[in-house]
Amino acid sequence: ALTNHDGQHIDTLKAYDQNHVWHHLTPGAAAEKGVSMFVRGEGLRLWDSEGKEYLDATAGGVWVTNVGYGRKEIADAVYQQLIELNYFAGSMASKPAAQFAAKLLQHMPGMSRVYYSSSGSEANEKAFKMVRQISHKHYQGKKHKILYRERDYHGTTLATLGASGQSERRAQFGPFVPDFIEFPHCCEYRNQYSDAENYGLQAAEALEQTILREGPDNVGAVILEPITAGGGIITPPEGYWEKVGEICKRHNILLIMDEVVCGLGRTGQWFGYQHYDIQPDIVTMAKGVASGYAAISCTVTTEKIYTLLQEAPGDTLGYFRDISTFGGCLAGQAAALSNLTIIEREGLVENSAAMGERLLNGFQRLAAKYPIIGDVRGKGLFAGIELVEDRHTKQPVDEAVPIAIAAECKKLGLLIGRTNRSLTGYNNILNFSPALTATVQDIDHIVDLLDQAFENVMQVQGLA
Ligand code: PMP
Repeated sequence: ALTNHDGQHIDTLKAYDQNHVWHHLTPGAAAEKGVSMFVRGEGLRLWDSEGKEYLDATAGGVWVTNVGYGRKEIADAVYQQLIELNYFAGSMASKPAAQFAAKLLQHMPGMSRVYYSSSGSEANEKAFKMVRQISHKHYQGKKHKILYRERDYHGTTLATLGASGQSERRAQFGPFVPDFIEFPHCCEYRNQYSDAENYGLQAAEALEQTILREGPDNVGAVILEPITAGGGIITPPEGYWEKVGEICKRHNILLIMDEVVCGLGRTGQWFGYQHYDIQPDIVTMAKGVASGYAAISCTVTTEKIYTLLQEAPGDTLGYFRDISTFGGCLAGQAAALSNLTIIEREGLVENSAAMGERLLNGFQRLAAKYPIIGDVRGKGLFAGIELVEDRHTKQPVDEAVPIAIAAECKKLGLLIGRTNRSLTGYNNILNFSPALTATVQDIDHIVDLLDQAFENVMQVQGLA
């Protein structure tokens, strides 16, 4: 019964997988035990090859499937595009690229140009190349340094990994591209500053101190996640973003907003930065752009950035000399257009805000019950729970605890995410990001199953 369309038994496929597929982020020892094979999805639900059903609170493992699984409408749009025209790169126009750009920019006041590529890393790499070229064209090679924040992640390529503030993830991959400089994180729960009242301002001042140390004439841009994802769902403290915006403006430094995770409704606004009073110069986005129905990412800029990267008279090298082969994939653009149409039509940004509030309230109820919950944070359908041994010392729990909770959830039919110590250095944060179509029942189900998992694990670990 368990066969694929070629009639191959699922066990054969699993054996092929174990012998031949090198899984992302999976140590060999774990892969040898075999990993789950999901074979079908519908909305927030997944089914594995054994027929077991899961409620997916991770949106595909890494915050991707914003509109949920099984959207025939997107598949049809991609199919129609593929049989009409699948590909052409470079300076040709395409219908879906033009339509998507125009529609997207309606949700991004102040932004003006969409540059297509095919992954989050690539979108950030484009942003860095724009900054570097502006440095050469307009500042005689000065304003070339790019600052990034501790605990943020910006990608897997050497330049974007070198711009990521997660030392474990960087380990054994250096040396990196020069002149990417780290500044301190802003996680209030792990507070590094004495003034609790003005925490956000102090955290932002750490950025300014870094700028002053490097010299404002050398610093071209700062890249940040509006809300840090992989580094532990870090919602910025009060006043932080407004101060960061003011500092960048004062020192003539471009603000690159990495919306690879937060973009397209994840946080209950179209873009994470729109919760705050700031205007970025460059916005990158990827995961929710086509919800995983195709690989597509965008680097969106203001008209000012676009203009700075045009040729001046006599400067034939002056335009942005960059291409992404699969930025010209019309399937991706068609999927993005259809995905965006669904988000608009179904009011998924508003739903993310409302259901996110319900989710956080549910987690607060669990926090009242389980002392190992040290902090609950998030915005929209993007939430984290930080686990501690002791609420006063904030000593993180042993890694075995979140591993056991996630495993227990899976046993109960709920998929949740957690920070990975070998990547981020943090092992004690659970994360949640169901599809933006989540209903009241889905949210309550997530909270109930998590409650059950906590209870079971606390009993086994003797922590109850
Ligand atoms: N930026 C952020 C904030 C991310 O979380 C990720 C991926 N997790 C990336 C960039 C890189 O995206 P990709 O894996 O598509 O290259």
